[in-house]
Amino acid sequence: MTAEDPAFRQTLSRLPAALKDAGFRGGIERDSALRAAMSTDNSVYRILPDLILAPMDAADVVTAMSVLETPPFDAIPLTARGGGTGTNGQSLNRGVILDMRRHMHRLIAVDPEGQWADVEPGIVLDDLNAQLRPHGVFFAPETSTSTRCVVGGMVSTDASGKGSRIYGKTSDNLLGVEIARGQGLLDSLAPAPDWAQPMLAAAETAARAGRDAFMLAVFAAMAALGGIAALGLDEVQSGP
Ligand SMILES: Cc1cc2nc3c(=O)[nH]c(=O)nc-3n(C[C@H](O)[C@H](O)[C@H](O)COP(=O)(O)OP(=O)(O)OC[C@H]3O[C@@H](n4cnc5c(N)ncnc54)[C@H](O)[C@@H]3O)c2cc1C
Repeated sequence: MTAEDPAFRQTLSRLPAALKDAGFRGGIERDSALRAAMSTDNSVYRILPDLILAPMDAADVVTAMSVLETPPFDAIPLTARGGGTGTNGQSLNRGVILDMRRHMHRLIAVDPEGQWADVEPGIVLDDLNAQLRPHGVFFAPETSTSTRCVVGGMVSTDASGKGSRIYGKTSDNLLGVEIARGQGLLDSLAPAPDWAQPMLAAAETAARAGRDAFMLAVFAAMAALGGIAALGLDEVQSGP
């Protein structure tokens, strides 16, 4: 189906009602100003999306996924967006944009002694570190775009920056993630539920075929980093 295809347009027009019927609580918007804002990032590209969804929390992402994984809605492209600072147009697409930053920006838990934190994927890096500062810890990968980029986008791009040679890049400081699928949340720190077994078996088969295939399988499974990212933290060193 293409964006001009009448069947595609009809499917899109039925999506908001299907989402509400399924219990989706977040924003469902298609006004032209918001779509225009979501049509660009820090790349040279511009792609106008058809619909913006702003989930309230992880459960809301699962609800959205459950609808968007079901025919005919599974034909609609679905793309997560964080701070929109990517330089390659990664957060741009037609179809549905999941705006992870608007509501899902909470610091859920922090353990300064254990040096870990749980965050929602839409938290802006500088906001996270401002909340961590009183605890004497920080999340290390310091991108130049720290006032805008969010943890979900950093995980997806494996962001790095100033200090990464000492503290590592994002993947070096990531303890675990929750991945949203229509059936529920897949927690990388917990045993996989029954519904995830076929997906993980497919990923393992791909892994045996080579690393690139494995990465493709993982990214296919990672439709949206919809739950919590567990982050490793570093202690703030006192100044000279
Ligand atoms: C001036 C400038 C300086 C920069 N400096 C650096 C730097 O120092 N270091 C560096 O590493 N990068 C840098 N970048 C690139 C960019 O800031 C990083 O890639 C950043 O991590 C992107 O985060 P974001 O939240 O803006 O993600 P977005 O641009 O919104 O999205 C990036 C990708 O992440 C995906 N994504 C976002 N949220 C989720 C989610 N919840 N679940 C699944 N996928 C998700 C999107 O679909 C997209 O594919 C720079 C860019 C600019 C323009």
